[in-house]
Amino acid sequence: MRIVCWKFIRNFVPTKVNLCIKKVAGDPICNRCYLFLEDVVHVLCECSYASQIWLALQIREPSNASSLSFQDWLYQMFNINGLQHIQTIIIAVYAIWHARNKLVFEGIAIRIEESIAFIRSYCLDLNLTQSRLSSEDIIGPSRWIAPLDLFLKLNVDAGFDPSTKTAYVGVIIRNKSGAIMGAMCARRERILSSFAAEACAMVQGLRFAMELGFADIIAEGDSLTVIKKLNSKSRDLFEISTYIGDAKSLARRFHTCRFVFTRREGNRSAHAMTLESRKYAEEMFWVEDAPGSVQSIANEDRRWLDPP
Ligand SMILES: [Zn+2]
Repeated sequence: MRIVCWKFIRNFVPTKVNLCIKKVAGDPICNRCYLFLEDVVHVLCECSYASQIWLALQIREPSNASSLSFQDWLYQMFNINGLQHIQTIIIAVYAIWHARNKLVFEGIAIRIEESIAFIRSYCLDLNLTQSRLSSEDIIGPSRWIAPLDLFLKLNVDAGFDPSTKTAYVGVIIRNKSGAIMGAMCARRERILSSFAAEACAMVQGLRFAMELGFADIIAEGDSLTVIKKLNSKSRDLFEISTYIGDAKSLARRFHTCRFVFTRREGNRSAHAMTLESRKYAEEMFWVEDAPGSVQSIANEDRRWLDPP
């Protein structure tokens, strides 16, 4: 990402105006609006595609953009919008440039909403990766803890394949003696990030628990960010928020539902269920049962239980 920005700053990128100067291309007009010369500042600031993206991201642009060099424009963007938006601005510059290349070289028009979704999910992933790194020492149980009394424990996990945008969801429900009450696995397509996959897994888990008629649930996952968001009252604009919203409204339909963070060691059975989902094209459900590989991990979890 830094390399891309640096290239722009040096004005090395082959915009049509640059190519004309070098006598490569004959026509310096913008391929999108056909109104203006295509230089870097036009593509990234003036052209309506760019300005609609800045508007949607609530990033303000300098009023005199057209009279600025790219360098000065970028400097002013950082200045006007503040340090906390530098990351968004750089990712958006990259996305707008990528959309321009797709149009010019392949004739493919990337919709504005697609670019915005890309920018938001990229920013979110960066932020979450940073927060995950800094929260690695967080204190959470490092083994599976059985629920108390009438509660059932729902463990969820997700694997994510970014190349196919597929989430592999695993869910297991156990009672206070560690007996398996239900398990399910599923694939979900068109998932934008690993965090969306984790949030999606929680939604699937809650639906499954509800279908089995359970009333009091401890819902546990190993994505701290997702659990924090599920427990927070505030809403965010990013793409996992639909799953967070769905999970919160499902949770209200239980008699009791609490969201709890566990370390990965406490979530091994759910993780094993995500591996099962790679074997099946369809959703799979087990009632008072689970695949053999998962049963043996669940049995290991039970060894920690106090004798009745
Ligand atoms: Zn244009």
